[in-house]
Amino acid sequence: MCIHKADNPAWTRRDFVRAGLATGGAVAVGASVYGGMRPVFAATDSVPNLDDLSRSVRGRLLLGSSPGYDEARRVWNLAYDRRPLAMLRAADVDDVRRCVEFAREHTVPIAIRGGGHSYAGYGVADGAVQIDLGTFTNVTVDRDRRIASVGGGTRIGDLLRATLAAGLYTPMGSCGSVGVAGLTLAGGDTSGRGLYGTACDNLIGAQVVTADGDVRELGSGKNEDLYWAIRGGGGNFGVVTRLDFRLHPVVPLHSAAFNIGWRDIPGALRAYGDLVRDAPDEARAAFFVDPESGASASCGYRGDAAVAAVYLEKWKAAFRPAEAHLSTSTPDPEGEVWATTHVAVDGAFIEHLNDSVVDVLSRAAMEGRGVGQMLLGLSSGVVARIPMTATAYPLRGTGLSTLIAAEWDKPEARSRAERWVAETGAALRPYARRAYVNYLPPSMPERIREAYGVNYPRLARIKAQYDPANLFRENQNIRPGFPGEG
Ligand SMILES: Cc1cc2nc3c(=O)[nH]c(=O)nc-3n(C[C@H](O)[C@H](O)[C@H](O)COP(=O)(O)OP(=O)(O)OC[C@H]3O[C@@H](n4cnc5c(N)ncnc54)[C@H](O)[C@@H]3O)c2cc1C
Repeated sequence: MCIHKADNPAWTRRDFVRAGLATGGAVAVGASVYGGMRPVFAATDSVPNLDDLSRSVRGRLLLGSSPGYDEARRVWNLAYDRRPLAMLRAADVDDVRRCVEFAREHTVPIAIRGGGHSYAGYGVADGAVQIDLGTFTNVTVDRDRRIASVGGGTRIGDLLRATLAAGLYTPMGSCGSVGVAGLTLAGGDTSGRGLYGTACDNLIGAQVVTADGDVRELGSGKNEDLYWAIRGGGGNFGVVTRLDFRLHPVVPLHSAAFNIGWRDIPGALRAYGDLVRDAPDEARAAFFVDPESGASASCGYRGDAAVAAVYLEKWKAAFRPAEAHLSTSTPDPEGEVWATTHVAVDGAFIEHLNDSVVDVLSRAAMEGRGVGQMLLGLSSGVVARIPMTATAYPLRGTGLSTLIAAEWDKPEARSRAERWVAETGAALRPYARRAYVNYLPPSMPERIREAYGVNYPRLARIKAQYDPANLFRENQNIRPGFPGEG
């Protein structure tokens, strides 16, 4: 998650646009931990059948020796410097199907690249065949039926631009450059979820190419198991080539932001915890710790300006003497810009901001001064009231979806950043077992099982049915669960 510039113009993180960094070299290979059940080919272009694949597709296929290979394999998080066996920029659904069939026949894992913004770098993988959906960017909006359909490689900014032109929107993340599919398939940590549910709750249909090469339509009454699984289960079940979203009217957001700094972070966290406990569905709230400027809090109310003003008074009173920076906004397709970087992340879904958690967070904030950042975004209202097992997305009930992150630009700063993130994540784990999978580092199977909670066994069964060889394992991996296995 990054803070929505338009929602809170007075309260943005420091400017992440760092000229030149985007062209900097990657420093190290990130560990990819997956249910690696099958051998993979080395990243070489000498595997004979790649010629067959190359001949059978319309899109561009890049091999290790191809011009443009190094540029094409680069993803947003430069901490991951991975070398796929081949990369197909698919031209159409048939290309996707052929590539999946190739991968299945040769037991090569598949990496899916949508918007390329995975924190864990999953859009690219060593020894895998990458299916790049960069040409799947078509957006259509049906204003009367309030439905938007997008290709599997569409960015949030392009979706929002099209829907806002029709006076409509659907809850999405705060950075316009992030892929719609990568975010939605994992659930979505979104602005507007209190009123409308989160991104996956508004996914009313999809087209997916499964590991057997079939092209399937999903939705209510259509492949219901898969439809349930892709609403939270990430890219584990196939390549999603089209997504259909329910749209809603745009409602203005009236916001107040408070700069707190480094003084009394525990007190500010306690105040934040009290304020969000009974937040109305219209509310949006976040607590942020910036490595340089310290803590800040923001809240917003979507709807009538007079009602909003009364609600914001509570926040002003709680954070006095911090000055309230007030603004009114509607969604901004560009959102906040967080430029390509090296970053380590972890996540936690905090249900109770009790004294122990406040203690962990306050200590982490001080120890992370100059190193790391934390963002605790309120998840409540409609998204929280949907039953836990209604979709694969497990973050139901009110909570604070927390992203812990630390960037570095010089290689020697990497270990300190990674250590702070790992220690902060570990300290929160006893209080927050569930987490948004898109905020996790490449994770061991137990962590994924824990993150999905009660939904994991059903996900594993569906995985076994549709992807028994775990071709789609370059992700926060759900391992196929066959009958009789624990
Ligand atoms: C700057 C930034 C801001 C962010 N802000 C938010 C936010 O506000 N809210 C939020 O919820 N998250 C946010 N995230 C996290 C984001 O949701 C994930 O990183 C997500 O995986 C990005 O999707 P992508 O398509 O861009 O990434 P990719 O790297 O292209 O894809 C990541 C993974 O998603 C799956 N995937 C992607 N496309 C498809 C597809 N078409 N079919 C099947 N599987 C697919 C695959 O498993 C793939 O490996 C942010 C990340 C960044 C870097």
